[in-house]
Amino acid sequence: MKQYEAVIGLEVHVELATKTKIFCGCSTEFGGAPNTHTCPVCTGMPGSLPVLNKKVVEFALKAGIAANCKVSRYCKFDRKNYFYPDNPQNYQISQLYLPICRNGWVEIETSAGKKKVRIHEMHMEEDAGKLIHDEWEDCSLVDYNRSGVPLIEIVSEPDMENAEEVIAYLEKLRCMMQYLGVSDCKLQEGSMRADVNLSVREAGTRAMGTRTEMKNLNSFKAIARAIEGERERQIELLETGRAVMQETRRWDDNKESSYTMRSKEDAKDYRYFPDPDLPPIHISEAWINDVCASIPELREEKQERYQKKYGLPAYDAGLLTESRALSELFEETAKVCGNAKKAANWFMGEVLRLMKEKSLEPEQLRFSPGHLADLILMVEKKEVSAQNAKRVFERVFEEDIDPVAYIEEQGMKIVEDTSLLNDVLNRILDENPGPFSELLGGKEKVFGFFVGKLMKELRGKASPDTVREALAKEIVKRS
Ligand code: ADP
Ligand code: MG
Ligand code: ZN
Repeated sequence: MKQYEAVIGLEVHVELATKTKIFCGCSTEFGGAPNTHTCPVCTGMPGSLPVLNKKVVEFALKAGIAANCKVSRYCKFDRKNYFYPDNPQNYQISQLYLPICRNGWVEIETSAGKKKVRIHEMHMEEDAGKLIHDEWEDCSLVDYNRSGVPLIEIVSEPDMENAEEVIAYLEKLRCMMQYLGVSDCKLQEGSMRADVNLSVREAGTRAMGTRTEMKNLNSFKAIARAIEGERERQIELLETGRAVMQETRRWDDNKESSYTMRSKEDAKDYRYFPDPDLPPIHISEAWINDVCASIPELREEKQERYQKKYGLPAYDAGLLTESRALSELFEETAKVCGNAKKAANWFMGEVLRLMKEKSLEPEQLRFSPGHLADLILMVEKKEVSAQNAKRVFERVFEEDIDPVAYIEEQGMKIVEDTSLLNDVLNRILDENPGPFSELLGGKEKVFGFFVGKLMKELRGKASPDTVREALAKEIVKRS
């Protein structure tokens, strides 16, 4: 059998996190009773006129600049004409001729190393409504809440070869959009959607084969399975002397196979033309500069800074910067307690452990970094044992209690009381002459026996370290 390689390009739709829709003042909030976030504009009523939301342009610029694109200083909107019940105007307002951003790239990292994926363009457009097929009632209903929610479509060049690269690329985009604050990119809620274009060719050849486009991919796992399935299907066709048809296919993740949805349409099928209701947009240099200045430190720079400035291992720096929310909590904790390494240890250990246990996303964390910092400082000052501190942190994590007050109340605070320590130490040694002579004879195990006994009697009135120190001194004195 010949050797084949896959060629993959992605079209990714990202819903922008603006408060209102792209051409009207309706809320973009996800959910809500059907058709409650609607008005004449986003339900396509005759005579209604669109007004562009400036924030959408700003968000698109942010995304484009962060992905190294060139900004089109002059751009405009076009109508893409098609009939579908979730599209009440019978056209979608999009950008064909002059998209806002072009010719960018992002860098991805896979087990094979680093690689650039070129971005052909990013354009702004409006989302469609949602059809709900009610099998029970045998009818279809339409909800226009999503109609007019702003999207950017990010079109890559066909630079990817396998599922690992595709997922690295999507994760890269998702992380970037979240850091920029332009989208939450939730695949399950549809705020990030990917269409996969895939063709195969004989390994080593340059000409690209005929591609298919796969839709309906709503998880990274489904995407990986769909790529594998489609690659095999196309190779099988070529191996048996048949042709790949250019078409749009729908992936059925339950059946783990795809089926034809429609033959592939071309731009000309949509009879695109410039939208006469919307004036072209002029983007000033000053605006571009403002947007550049507003771009926060992104993950890669953060990761590097954590390694250089805080001396963290690359692995830890990677995990701590996976989401902007988590990195901010970490940095604030490090700042307040003045010890980044210790703060990182707590995050890598307890914070991540509890997040996993309770299936929480970083955005859902509710503890204040100041409270964790207080706890870290108390452990450092030996005012609470490490074991108790972990227990207290569970309460901080869940209810954001004040750990200092709580430790006092619960009698967990270690208050060094030297005279009490000496009294108890002498009494215990006198009461246990047998074990003590074994200890003097060099039986080291007995040391732990005495420390345990002392800790129990002292009930937090001395730290384990002080107890060990005092016991060691007493041994020297009595031997
Ligand atoms: P359309 O607008 O008709 O969907 P485009 O030419 O804009 O088509 O390409 C859409 C996506 O398909 C892009 O991400 C591009 O990289 C990818 N693509 C184009 N040709 C191929 C091919 N032969 N194999 C794999 N992907 C391809
Ligand atoms: Mg397309
Ligand atoms: Zn509206």
